[in-house]
Amino acid sequence: MVHIKFFEQVNKYFDRAAGYTKFPKGLLDQIKICNTVCHFAFPIQKDDGSIETIHAWRAEHSFHKLPTKGGIRYSMEVNEDEVQALAALMTYKCAVVDVPFGGGKGGVRIDRKKYSQTELERITRRLTFEMVKKNFIGPDIDVPAPDYGTGEQEMAWIVDTYKSIAPSLNSEGCVTGKPVELGGIRGRTEATGRGIFFGIREACEQKDDMKRLGMNVGLDGKTVVVQGFGNVGYHSAKFLEEGGCVITGIAEWDGAIHNPKGINIEALKKHQQEHGTITTFPGATFIKDSKLALELECDILVPAALESQIHEGNAHKIKAKIIGEGANGPTTIEAHDIIKKRETLIIPDNYLNAGGVTVSYFEWLKNLSHVRFGRMDRRFEENSAKQLLLSIQDLTDRKLSEDDIKKLAHGATEQDIVDSGLEDTMITAYNQINDIKNELNIDLRTAAFVSAIRKVAVIYNKMGIFP
Ligand code: GLU
Repeated sequence: MVHIKFFEQVNKYFDRAAGYTKFPKGLLDQIKICNTVCHFAFPIQKDDGSIETIHAWRAEHSFHKLPTKGGIRYSMEVNEDEVQALAALMTYKCAVVDVPFGGGKGGVRIDRKKYSQTELERITRRLTFEMVKKNFIGPDIDVPAPDYGTGEQEMAWIVDTYKSIAPSLNSEGCVTGKPVELGGIRGRTEATGRGIFFGIREACEQKDDMKRLGMNVGLDGKTVVVQGFGNVGYHSAKFLEEGGCVITGIAEWDGAIHNPKGINIEALKKHQQEHGTITTFPGATFIKDSKLALELECDILVPAALESQIHEGNAHKIKAKIIGEGANGPTTIEAHDIIKKRETLIIPDNYLNAGGVTVSYFEWLKNLSHVRFGRMDRRFEENSAKQLLLSIQDLTDRKLSEDDIKKLAHGATEQDIVDSGLEDTMITAYNQINDIKNELNIDLRTAAFVSAIRKVAVIYNKMGIFP
């Protein structure tokens, strides 16, 4: 495989966008550079009694807003360059969707399949301890979250360890993506996938773009191939299917499946849980080399696994007319340029997968405010709406049934508030970057970078020069 320097890639995209702004070079350099990165090497004891040294990194890319924010991934690809690139993408992503955090990212270089649950727990707790020691975690410092290879369980270990060694009023806000019972928020697990759905749906509502691509407006009947069937891939596929798309291909690390008539996503999830793989799913064609799934005929391709999946080597074989980047950095700049020459719309990662961090922001707000969204006003809203409906009923001849009233007078639950906050965030940000795209006649990715640079630069400009 070609070795791609990921941070350099992100910076090339940045430089291209910076060319459409008038900020001084010094300021642009400050925005671009990764402010801090820490390498941790610590021992853990394996179940067989042996000792292993674990390597982990945490990068804090930008302190223009605090805390810094971003996931922790468990993968063999993790290295210093990768976490810096991913932390930079977090800075830009947060700015694009107006989430008031600097960018951060962490990673542990392990293949999680090779460790038992107790070993993973020891790694995660020890990492948390190391981060506390180096001041690399805290509700007002740096707040990790799930990423590739991590989920609620790891976040539960992190918050428990943090609370036991650094207890404070707001210590629950030291990490997001926690189980609801430990201060998590409803809707966080599916947030990245739901955000991807809202973003793709918004893109497919743009009449001019759809006309240019020779497609109908809306999602109905559009065929979709998704790379990755972990949390992000599964939820993107599920919401796109519910929104009217036909999911024709799914790729995983051990192979891909294809069915032009459509793959039932819930049935596939069940199959994966029961058999530990998607590759034996009945009724679909098995593709041994899962990377080939990227080249399948489809309307929308959603790479939702790892970075640099679409590169110089396969870019010209991609047939999709829309690429919705669910993963971070799935397309190299060389591939981006090859694809751009055709009529293809790339919905960039630094906008499209921002749903996760957006709902993390809501979770963090919940932790700092110590109250569940909807708790104070749900009943009040419901009663007011009921009163209004009953008054309308009195004024008109229309009699509403108990059922109608229940449906219409419904106070918002935490999940309702989270979902509508996320929907609003994704739609607003799409329109912001789409306006920049049209204003400067550039592609959507460059527009997203321009949007981020403008927003971060304004903050630095207002801060002035540090003493
Ligand atoms: N890991 C996710 C991302 O790359 C979520 C980050 C977060 O919630 O802080 O956006």
